[in-house]
Amino acid sequence: MGNCEQKVLQISKRGIDLVRDPILNKGTAFSEKEREEFNLHGLLPPHVSTFEEQIQRATENYRRKDTDIGKYIFLEALHDRNEILYYALLLRNLEEMTPIIYTPTVGLACQQYGHIFRQTRGMYMPAKAKENFKKIINNWPEEKVNVIVITDGSRILGLGDLGASGIGIPIGKLSLYVACAGIYPSETLPVVIDVGIDNEKLLKDSLYLGEKHHRITGEEYYDVIDECIVAVHERWPKALIQFEDFTNNHAFPLLKKYREKLLCFNDDIQGTGGVVLAGILASLRITKGKLCDQRIVFLGAGSAAVGIADMIVAGMIEECLSEQEARRRFWFLDSKGLVTTTRGDKLAEHKILYARDEKPQKTLLEVIKSVKPTIIIGVSKQQGAFSEDVVREMKKHVDIPVIFALSNPTSKSECTPTQAYEWTDGNVVYASGSPFEPIKYKGKTYATGQGNNMYIFPGVGLGVNVCKATKITDSMFYAAAKTLANLVSKEDLKKGRVYPDLNDIRKISAHIAVSVCEVAYSEGIAWEKRPENLLEVVKSKMFQPVYLQYEAV
Ligand code: NAD
Repeated sequence: MGNCEQKVLQISKRGIDLVRDPILNKGTAFSEKEREEFNLHGLLPPHVSTFEEQIQRATENYRRKDTDIGKYIFLEALHDRNEILYYALLLRNLEEMTPIIYTPTVGLACQQYGHIFRQTRGMYMPAKAKENFKKIINNWPEEKVNVIVITDGSRILGLGDLGASGIGIPIGKLSLYVACAGIYPSETLPVVIDVGIDNEKLLKDSLYLGEKHHRITGEEYYDVIDECIVAVHERWPKALIQFEDFTNNHAFPLLKKYREKLLCFNDDIQGTGGVVLAGILASLRITKGKLCDQRIVFLGAGSAAVGIADMIVAGMIEECLSEQEARRRFWFLDSKGLVTTTRGDKLAEHKILYARDEKPQKTLLEVIKSVKPTIIIGVSKQQGAFSEDVVREMKKHVDIPVIFALSNPTSKSECTPTQAYEWTDGNVVYASGSPFEPIKYKGKTYATGQGNNMYIFPGVGLGVNVCKATKITDSMFYAAAKTLANLVSKEDLKKGRVYPDLNDIRKISAHIAVSVCEVAYSEGIAWEKRPENLLEVVKSKMFQPVYLQYEAV
């Protein structure tokens, strides 16, 4: 597909091949002239639909489905049939449909993938074919690919190992890149590296579509991943690679291995870090605090926790502290209590930098009492872990505690917004990982914010694509977070919302892209020269889901 300034597109496809090409298909909206020119007469119902009629029909069909999985299947079928219509529908109903094409419903879809499978999408790279990855990658039909999302299916959302069925996650993430930041659909590529599966239920499921063996481990695992990354990178050297839903033991080493060598990032680590940092920066507009003065306690010490902390450290370094000083402002608890150098167990590598040289403490309440944090962040998957005792203790030491209960889904949330408001007498900044309905407290309505990664990663992807960055740095995520925090309106803050309206996502992504480009230009890591009117250039590169006029070649 051409660039978005091109209103007329020259195409060579004809007849049923054109109708079956999801990128070019207009379905019942092909005009009389196009039907004549492209041999479509007789292949379509006679009435020429307007785009609005098509959207109305698709919306009706979508809303007629009475289960979320039914809605997912409907949307994916539309995705496979007519991408323009799919994205137009998605953009008009982003808040309604994101929970279907992405978390939580995409998780259910991945669990049932072998049973609901209709049409192939993306690339499957099985370990046994690793010697041939460079050949296999050439089977992808598109010459131009700009964003690639790769998973090994090992830790799909909170659902664990789903193996090759995890392909649904890169598909969903890439839909968000297109919808939110206008990456061209044909320039996206979902990939699953199939290194086996340790999920016994799926292994025994005759309809499971992946390789039926246990996971490859150790050096062999890293070799397979490397073969795939090299193959992808050789074919599209300037494409962005996003690592997605890898287990922690692989996510951190893979990021370390590739982040300086190619244009890549891990959304579970860095994207989460960026979006939560943005929420904190916006919170500080309410509490009137400075980032460098915060004392932050994390419940959970996995990829989200460390990703968030690393990003806040990057922010503190930009603002005033040394790296060492910044790291001293964090306290982590995992399932064994406070993460310390003294507790006698072997700490996972990603925790070591944050381990404290102090005596072990078992409970969150003890830590809150001794640390007196200004911010607590829940990424532990422990429902209710921010108990009344914990929240009331925190409130004793700060005027307005900042409480981010980020575990997903809603049922895993460390505390609800209602609890946070009640236990602090309404003096709290609260954000969650999954959306909550607005709440009423003492006659006032609060619409709490959701720290959704989709605020950040699409704009980062757009930015690095526009300036053709050679790598992704933490400064880019810090800049993206600052931009996002500044886009939160005063009205949002008054309602307790520390994230902007998701319906403004295209504007948000464009501004984030600009801030990311500025970092790349100033760090000298962009291939493209900075244009005068950067924002306009960024906007002009965004795909719009409207039909182009076709001309035959
Ligand atoms: P993870 O499995 O890597 O980490 C979970 C951590 O919780 C581990 O360190 C574990 O030791 C710790 N833990 C388990 N039981 C505990 C207990 N009783 N007390 C204290 N700690 C305990 O998972 P993750 O990727 O870091 O994600 C964690 C949660 O954060 C998930 O629910 C995820 O959905 C959510 N999340 C939200 C966002 C967002 O809001 N944007 C982004 C990423 C992740």
